[in-house]
Amino acid sequence: MDIRSLVKKEIASLKAYQAKEVSCRVKLDANESPYGFEEALMAVRQIRTNRYPDPEAKKLKAILAKGLGLSPEKLLQGNGSDELIYNLITTFGGPVLYPVPTFSMYGIIAQALGEEKREIPLDREFDIDLGKMETAVIKNKPKLVFLSSPNNPTGNCFSSERILRLVEISKGLVVVDEAYQPFSDGKGFVPLLKDYKNLVILRTLSKVGLAALRFGYLIAHEDIIREVNKVRLPFNVNALSQAVAVEALKKKTMLKEAILAITEERNRLLPAMERIRGVEPFPSEANFILFRVKDPKKVHAMLLNAGILVRDISDAVAGCLRVTVSTPKDNDLFLRGLGRIAKEL
Ligand SMILES: *Cc1c(COP(=O)(O)O)cnc(C)c1O
Repeated sequence: MDIRSLVKKEIASLKAYQAKEVSCRVKLDANESPYGFEEALMAVRQIRTNRYPDPEAKKLKAILAKGLGLSPEKLLQGNGSDELIYNLITTFGGPVLYPVPTFSMYGIIAQALGEEKREIPLDREFDIDLGKMETAVIKNKPKLVFLSSPNNPTGNCFSSERILRLVEISKGLVVVDEAYQPFSDGKGFVPLLKDYKNLVILRTLSKVGLAALRFGYLIAHEDIIREVNKVRLPFNVNALSQAVAVEALKKKTMLKEAILAITEERNRLLPAMERIRGVEPFPSEANFILFRVKDPKKVHAMLLNAGILVRDISDAVAGCLRVTVSTPKDNDLFLRGLGRIAKEL
C-alpha cells in the first residue's frame, strides 16, 4: 500500500522542518540562550501528575500581563509561538503574506493548512519593501501579514513607520513576531495595541533561556483572542512548563542580566567579526548575527570540524551564515575559529 498516495497534496509536497541534532562542542545554531534557569525546575515538585494542567495557564498569563501593563484577556498561551502561528492561520486562513528571507514557519504552516502564501523580497537594507508590500496587501488582500521584527535570520528591526503603514492599509491582521524583542533597544509594538485593532504581537520564552519549556504567547484585542482560542487544543501548555515558567519569571533580575550579558557580547562580537578579512557581519538587534563569507558551505564545515556549529543560511541569503551570541568564552572560541579559517581560505 502506498501511503503517500493517501496524503493530501499540499502535505505530500511539504518538507518536514529540519531540527537536526549535530553533536558539537559549541552550539551556536539555534538562537538559544547560553543561560538556563535550572533552579526553577524545583517548581515541578508541586505538580500532581494525575491532574490535567490549568487549561487557561492563569498564573503564567497573570505574571506576563502585569509585566506588560495589560489585562490577561489580551493574552493567549501557546506550546511555543509556533503553535500560535498555526492557530492564527487555522482561524483566519489565507492568503498569508510575509517578506523574505524570514522565519520559515509562516510558509510551512500556511502550506500545511492548504492556504495560499505570498512572499515579497526585503529591500537591500533587509527592510520591508514598502511599495511591493503595499501593492501585495491591496491586490492579494491577505488575512494575515507576518512580520518578524527583529527579523530572523537578518537580525534587524523593520522600520516602525513601514510596519505601521501596513497595519493601517491592511483589511486583515498584521502579526508582529517579537521573538527577539528582548534583545532590541526599541520598545516593540505592545504600546500601539490600543490604537490598532488589527495588530497582533507574538512573544516567546524560547530565546531568553526557556526553550525547553515550549511556551509562547499572543497579545491582541480580546475579539481576536476569543476567536483564536476556539482552535487552541484544550490543554496545550503542560503543567511542568507552566510551573517552571512561573518560577523562572519571578527571577526578574536574573532574566534581565542574562539578556544584558548577551546584548553586550553581541555588541563586542560584531566589530570583532568586521575586523576579520573576508567576513561581512550585519548589524543585529537580536541574539544572533548574520554574516557573509565567500564560501559559506566550506566555512560552515570548517567551523564544525573545529567543534563549532553555526547555521547555514546560504539557501535563503546568498553567502550567509548565522551565529548565535553566547557566553564570552564560546564567542571567543567562535571568533578564533573564524579568524583562523578566514586566513586559510
Ligand atoms: C524562534 C522563533 C520563533 C519560535 O518560537 P517558539 O516559541 O520556540 O515556537 C518564532 N518566531 C521567530 C521569528 C523565531 O525566530
